[in-house]
Amino acid sequence: MPGGHAARVYLPTHEGHVAWVLRNEPRVLAIGAQSSLTGGATPFGEALLATERMDQILEVSGDRAVVQSGVALVTLQEAARQAGAFYPPAPTYAGAFVGGTVSTNAAGAATWRYGTTRQWVRALRVVIAGGWVLALRRGEVRASEAGTFAVELPSGEQRQVAVPTYVMPNVPKRSAGYHAEPGMDLVDLFVGAEGTLGVITEIEVGLLHPAPQVLACLVPLVSEAAGLALTTTLRDLSCRVGEGLAPPSEAGALPIRAIESMDARCLQLLREDRALGAVSLPASTGFALLIQVEVPPGLDAHAELERFSEGARDTSPVTRFLGVLHAAGVLDHAEGALPGDRARHEQLAAIREAVPVAVNHRIAAAKRLDPRIHKCAADMIVPFEGFADAMQAYRGASQLDWAIWGHISDGNVHPNAIPTSYADCEAAQRAILEFGREVARLGGCPLSEHGVGRNAIKQELLRELYGDSGIAQMRAVKAALDPQGVLAPGVLFSA
Ligand SMILES: Cc1cc2nc3c(=O)[nH]c(=O)nc-3n(C[C@H](O)[C@H](O)[C@H](O)COP(=O)(O)OP(=O)(O)OC[C@H]3O[C@@H](n4cnc5c(N)ncnc54)[C@H](O)[C@@H]3O)c2cc1C
Repeated sequence: MPGGHAARVYLPTHEGHVAWVLRNEPRVLAIGAQSSLTGGATPFGEALLATERMDQILEVSGDRAVVQSGVALVTLQEAARQAGAFYPPAPTYAGAFVGGTVSTNAAGAATWRYGTTRQWVRALRVVIAGGWVLALRRGEVRASEAGTFAVELPSGEQRQVAVPTYVMPNVPKRSAGYHAEPGMDLVDLFVGAEGTLGVITEIEVGLLHPAPQVLACLVPLVSEAAGLALTTTLRDLSCRVGEGLAPPSEAGALPIRAIESMDARCLQLLREDRALGAVSLPASTGFALLIQVEVPPGLDAHAELERFSEGARDTSPVTRFLGVLHAAGVLDHAEGALPGDRARHEQLAAIREAVPVAVNHRIAAAKRLDPRIHKCAADMIVPFEGFADAMQAYRGASQLDWAIWGHISDGNVHPNAIPTSYADCEAAQRAILEFGREVARLGGCPLSEHGVGRNAIKQELLRELYGDSGIAQMRAVKAALDPQGVLAPGVLFSA
């Protein structure tokens, strides 16, 4: 639980109570699981509206689920699993609440194939300042040709909201202020708004049904260049199919769900912390990928492995994927988890998850020597063609100690400094601003999936991305829906 201080704490179980809080409190911060990495879920004197008791799964059937906003993703995934379905756009932290993930337009490993949370949100119930409830279904309210929404309140009052005119970077993940595009859907204004425009109480999302099985492979490589080459090959062979994305062209494509990367420093941290468990990486390993491939329902992955070992080289996803690893000369040391082997899947996932834990431990240790030391983490995405240049910029910008991991299939990584002094933190903050400029130059977005929150550096990255005029347009959106500035003051931009 992060620090901060709240005027009061509310734990509503239903929307009526949320509306009451928004009618009666001058400043309100809604929170989910408080896993935000931006300070966005840390109160500074507001009334805290904790959604943890709004935890009802209202419906899971076929390819849809309807939940209250305080349902944890892990709970949604389990309900989906029991119904033979899967919710793809989940961040690495499975304890996050569905409301929190919608509010930050969270993404994660599977974004490469399935897009971000935005593409999976079909309908929302949102309580805006004043306690007005909006029931929004995708497709029902779109911005006019003049670029405005006429938002109808239950009182009959109409609020005019002008869609910002800035152009968002053309990358698959963005959690960088208010979504804006011509003719956009009103649902999309609230997805990624980080609780500044309303409190989300209920969400309908799409589910993938039937859920494909997954084969995972931890692949050690000699260098970052080798990792990048393998990722490029796998990306070129696969395709994206998520809800709301371009129509699928699956024929002949390899169903790669996700590719996660860990650089040499990450691997060193894992070794130091003995976090590799039973997995042993060759001494020559300088980079590693954790790759997930989908296996269509009904296809027996064990039998496919057998066929591969007997020489089969055909279009089956399993034999084809293994063939790619074999051709790259990395199959022998790959550590696999077959569909259904939950323990083995969890073991491989735990290795990847141990990386941020290792960094956080070192920061906590340094903080004991100087309490001003803090986490210095970036969340950058570039079009994949610019990924090698971006990595060079992350490494070359300063003499600091960086560990870099993330969702390489999207060109999205998290350079994290490991500071040993407060001067390191200051240098890292300056470096992150420089990364943001380089990423923008490469056509990317310096705020990819974690959002902006109350983090001063992220707010500056947002300002540099859209300029003062872009921030002014966001403020105008906020003023139209929340004229008294009740919700999440200081999140995205200063109050
Ligand atoms: C180990 C770790 C790994 C992570 N990996 C990823 C990742 O892979 N991808 C990714 O995208 N993120 C990741 N995150 C960040 C975080 O998990 C996500 O931002 C997540 O979406 C936050 O969900 P939450 O429920 O914890 O929301 P909180 O942290 O509680 O809130 C986040 C923001 O949403 C607002 N909010 C919360 N609930 C509501 C609501 N009902 N209505 C309106 N506003 C609301 C809050 O005011 C705040 O601004 C990671 C975090 C950790 C700690």
